[in-house]
Amino acid sequence: MHKNFKGVDKTVFGRGSFDQLGDILAPRRTGDDPYMVFVVDAYFKGKPLAGRLPAEANDRVYFISVEEHEPTTDQIDTLRDEILAQQGLPAGVIGIGGGSIMDIAKALSLMLTNEGSSTQYQGLNLIKKPGVYHVGVPTISGTGAEVSMTAVLTGPVKKLGLKCEWTVFDQLVLDPDLIASVPRDWWFYTGMDTFIHCIESENGHFNNAYSHAYAEQSLALCRQVFTVGQNPETDEKLMVASLMGGLSLTYSEVGVCHALSYGLSKILGTRHCYANCLIMNHLEDYYPEGVAEFKQLAALHQINLPQGLSAEWDDDTITKMAHVSYNLPHMWHHAIGEDWEQHITIDGLKDLFRRL
Ligand code: NAD
Ligand code: ZN
Repeated sequence: MHKNFKGVDKTVFGRGSFDQLGDILAPRRTGDDPYMVFVVDAYFKGKPLAGRLPAEANDRVYFISVEEHEPTTDQIDTLRDEILAQQGLPAGVIGIGGGSIMDIAKALSLMLTNEGSSTQYQGLNLIKKPGVYHVGVPTISGTGAEVSMTAVLTGPVKKLGLKCEWTVFDQLVLDPDLIASVPRDWWFYTGMDTFIHCIESENGHFNNAYSHAYAEQSLALCRQVFTVGQNPETDEKLMVASLMGGLSLTYSEVGVCHALSYGLSKILGTRHCYANCLIMNHLEDYYPEGVAEFKQLAALHQINLPQGLSAEWDDDTITKMAHVSYNLPHMWHHAIGEDWEQHITIDGLKDLFRRL
């Protein structure tokens, strides 16, 4: 079966396009209480952007910190219950922030119309009803969460997305000015997520002309960005690279780095983009050229990735990580081949984790 996916309905791109958000929302303010819910990265609380939110009298603005943990099922359920109890169904949800806030906005939109806990919808096509209108406004680029059809949540049992056509944003506002304040280390880790998406998408069984075209362009943009540094022109390029990297992996697949990264994140809570960078540093056997380039870029930006981490991990921890990673068959099928089980073993994965 070939993938047949829904894309984002509308996209506005350009410096200052954030100021169009009010006009974009206006025709959506329909119904009895046509209010909007803004979920905004707490970083922006008290910053100029907070004063530019096109929030009207009845709208609700939540500043949410993403520092302590990635989005959880509990967090979404609690927020949804509070909103519905206090004001009923909103006309829309607007997420303004990084991958974490993109996922919170997507998941909240779905959970406002689907009963029960979000834990029961972690997986593919488990959501029963379309969510409310939702808009993504990224403020850090790289994860591709702005274009993906999944909202990744950590639950008591799984770290897995609510994945379906209704997850996809109705509208994107891509304003490169918004990513200018990203600190250099996060700019690198999150930006490298895109680079890694492309290397993995390209190097595997499911790569095809469609995913390749996006990866090729995204990699070209990444090179223009990461051989230079952060400036207004490279911010524009990185924003587009993130989108195209996301589309590339959607139509192909991620590979070894992401499979291991999920193991590390699930067991130790290491953040997605940082975990990818820690792992990519040791994958020369799988992606020799991509890893060499990654290392050059890390050195250029004086990003020191810690070594010797696994010395602190006992065998039980490493075994758990290996099992999480092993249970991502679509990634291994893509990266290694249909007969991946003959090449990838739990012990082999444990050895890879011990390289960290
Ligand atoms: P993030 O949202 O976790 O934010 C990283 C840090 O950057 C935070 O401290 C945040 O406050 C800060 N920040 C964001 N914008 C800023 C700005 N303009 N200026 C200054 N600081 C800013 O970062 P991320 O790396 O984009 O997202 C990671 C999350 O994305 C994880 O939860 C991961 O699971 C998820 N993810 C989702 C998908 C998907 O397809 N849905 C794909 C990959 C990753
Ligand atoms: Zn990723």
